[in-house]
Amino acid sequence: MNKIQLCDKYKCTQCMACINVCPKKCIELIDTGEGFYIPQIDEKICVECSACIKACHRLSPIVDYQTPLKTLACWTKNDTDRRRSSSGGAFSVLARKVLSENGVVFGATMDTNLQVKHISIDNTDDIVKLQGSKYVQSYLGDTYKQVREFLRQERLVLFTGTPCQIGGLLTFLRKKYNNLITCDMVCHGVPSQRAFDVFCEKTNIKNTCQGVSFRFTAGWGFQLAREVESPIQSENPTSTHLTRKVVNPRDAWYMRAFNKGLMFNESCFSCAYTTPQRVSDFTMADYWGLGAETPFDYPTFRGVSMLLVNNLKAMDFINECPDLFYEERSLEEAIKGNHNLSHNSERLVGRDSFIQDMQVMEPRALVVKYGIKESLRDYLRLLKQWINSKRV
Ligand SMILES: Cc1cc2nc3c(=O)[nH]c(=O)nc-3n(C[C@H](O)[C@H](O)[C@H](O)COP(=O)(O)OP(=O)(O)OC[C@H]3O[C@@H](n4cnc5c(N)ncnc54)[C@H](O)[C@@H]3O)c2cc1C
Ligand code: SF4
Ligand code: SF4
Ligand code: SF4
Repeated sequence: MNKIQLCDKYKCTQCMACINVCPKKCIELIDTGEGFYIPQIDEKICVECSACIKACHRLSPIVDYQTPLKTLACWTKNDTDRRRSSSGGAFSVLARKVLSENGVVFGATMDTNLQVKHISIDNTDDIVKLQGSKYVQSYLGDTYKQVREFLRQERLVLFTGTPCQIGGLLTFLRKKYNNLITCDMVCHGVPSQRAFDVFCEKTNIKNTCQGVSFRFTAGWGFQLAREVESPIQSENPTSTHLTRKVVNPRDAWYMRAFNKGLMFNESCFSCAYTTPQRVSDFTMADYWGLGAETPFDYPTFRGVSMLLVNNLKAMDFINECPDLFYEERSLEEAIKGNHNLSHNSERLVGRDSFIQDMQVMEPRALVVKYGIKESLRDYLRLLKQWINSKRV
């Protein structure tokens, strides 16, 4: 029997570091039956070199847990960026700074087939591809190898993603690079691409749009919207642009299942990164709970990011970002407002059956069974966001 044992479904985050380092290319990912994957080694080819074990952040982590130096409530001064972002657009500020130094930015995008994956960009026109949260596990492929290549070429690299994707990268690299900046997020957990595909199929979203926005708001909050190509009413009638059409809350049960935690990856329930000590240079999030105890004197309806500045490298970097408006707050406030900064999402009793049921059940029966039917509050929230959009 092969002595090499990689992660089981309770640990594996699908970072793909093991696959990327294996000299024999004898690891493949197999489906756990839930739309998530675990590695399987072809024992006939494996030479038991242990490279995969050493590259795995769940088995041999090479990460430093750092106590944040500063907690910022912040937003970008660029109005277009702020509108396109989920919270205050902290990500876009970091990305613009790196791109202005001829750097490369990695992050998650959604392609026109509604598949979420990591890509790199090297010009500011493409920032929009990475903006906005996609509440689907992002496919990494050979991204870590690409990062290493850019670092070796001495390009400045900003890598953004879930904390486990950063932990995976740092352990894969095994070496500290001054030209690497990492930014993770406070992370609730990830649903699989398959869960999202099923949702799109069942709600007729697939093939009726070019993208899906999970946070379509002129105000701050959650709202699912289809991105549809439509003709611009202008001098050039052949040109097109994307307009966003809000999905009726009745059909937007994916967001409610996500927020409730009904379809997370098994490994999210033992996540190693839901602590106030952070493995990345920066951590971004929505600033929930802002001003709950100590007043915050600015309007927040356009979205506010929480940005943790986790080390001196990040401090130096942020001091050179004039596009960022910020006020320093306390880490305690941020932790109080965002439970995934201090503990894992709870594993609900109905999680396993929901993942199976969502594939076969009719949506109305599904939402009733799992208590995620739309409520009056969903419609009122929509109304509030529409009112806020008129204030912007
Ligand atoms: C799966 C997931 C869970 C989250 N959970 C929480 C939470 O519990 N609490 C909280 O406050 N905030 C959470 N966030 C973060 C929040 O939604 C915003 O991303 C954050 O506030 C940054 O917003 P922004 O306005 O600065 O940038 P935006 O422009 O909104 O964010 C873009 C950034 O998010 C990254 N990103 C988007 N989708 C993904 C993805 N699927 N996988 C990896 N990276 C992605 C992009 O690479 C880019 O760096 C979560 C985000 C994701 C993707
Ligand atoms: S031990 Fe070496 S050869 Fe075997 S799967 Fe791991 S990396 Fe590949
Ligand atoms: S390296 Fe990543 S994909 Fe491989 S077993 Fe570990 S967590 Fe899973
Ligand atoms: S909760 Fe943890 S394991 Fe799950 S996606 Fe987020 S960082 Fe990764």
